[in-house]
Amino acid sequence: MKKIGVLTSGGDSPGMNAAIRAVVRKAIYHGLEVAGIFHGYQGLIDGNIKPLERGDVGDIIQRGGTMLYSARCLEFKEEAGQLKAIEQLRAHEIDGLVVIGGDGSYRGAKALTKRGIPCVGVPGTIDNDIAGTDYTIGFDTALNTVIEAIDKIRDTATSHDRSFIIEVMGRDAGDLALWAGLAGGAETILIPEEPHDLEDMAERLKRGRDRGKKHSIIIVAEGVMSGQDLQVKLLEMGIETRVSVLGHIQRGGSPTARDRVLASQMGAKAVELLLQNNGGKAVGMRNHEIVAHDFEEVFEESPEFDNEMYKLSKELSI
Ligand code: ATP
Repeated sequence: MKKIGVLTSGGDSPGMNAAIRAVVRKAIYHGLEVAGIFHGYQGLIDGNIKPLERGDVGDIIQRGGTMLYSARCLEFKEEAGQLKAIEQLRAHEIDGLVVIGGDGSYRGAKALTKRGIPCVGVPGTIDNDIAGTDYTIGFDTALNTVIEAIDKIRDTATSHDRSFIIEVMGRDAGDLALWAGLAGGAETILIPEEPHDLEDMAERLKRGRDRGKKHSIIIVAEGVMSGQDLQVKLLEMGIETRVSVLGHIQRGGSPTARDRVLASQMGAKAVELLLQNNGGKAVGMRNHEIVAHDFEEVFEESPEFDNEMYKLSKELSI
């Protein structure tokens, strides 16, 4: 292995830059050359590839987003697109590739590995929805962004005796909503992994109101329903609420120390795997250890969901 490539793909997440930096520096430390591939798989197909030196990744560890830009690319899902990508990799003499992204990006990385270019995946997504790792890069930062928003909304909710619905990201995974709900002291948390009973929820809110509780915080993951739809349903049951949709602020911002450290460890591990010619793997963190699993294992398993934490959130919100 003489030269490796690195790209970011799918939705961006805070800490991707720290991961890119780790990949570039670790590779150079071990005598490898590094090529930066811009705009994800689309950039790979188009040959949007430039060499990266150690100085090119200076002053980025603290920045959100990704200096390599990210993209979604339908063409790459097809054989023709993948063959063009392989041609570019060969033309640029890239022997291995680090792909920083989510589950979809891993599928692309697996396809390239099968076609002869060893790839390693690094989990970059705020959703914490990838099997084989306890945390993904960006989750901690997004969580802290949500908590900051909840605390602010709580101030105004208290001042005006209002109940607030806060819609957070999470189409299929409720980790962000669950952790934010627990850390933000929410009365109710609606997540895709658990069934919900709106009537029971309305009853609990009413009971709270009757015993003098004047405001509440309800967290809903976007995959369950929109904040607006929930507002309409609750109003039909006699509960008035205000809605706040946090949206893309959850994906931005300077990564937390935890995300920077995780990204540095995972980026470095990805390079180690390529140096060992051990492609077709996804890096993860399990019980505080940096690990790697075959892509296939990651696709077969469902991301772990912490039922105990969900139970606790209910017990503490009585
Ligand atoms: P997130 O969903 O967290 O934003 P992701 O990596 O899962 O991140 P996707 O949009 O699912 O995001 O995938 C990113 C890109 O990976 C796609 O645009 C496509 O180019 C490639 N990709 C996705 N699925 C496949 C697949 N089955 N085969 C080959 N390439 C794929």
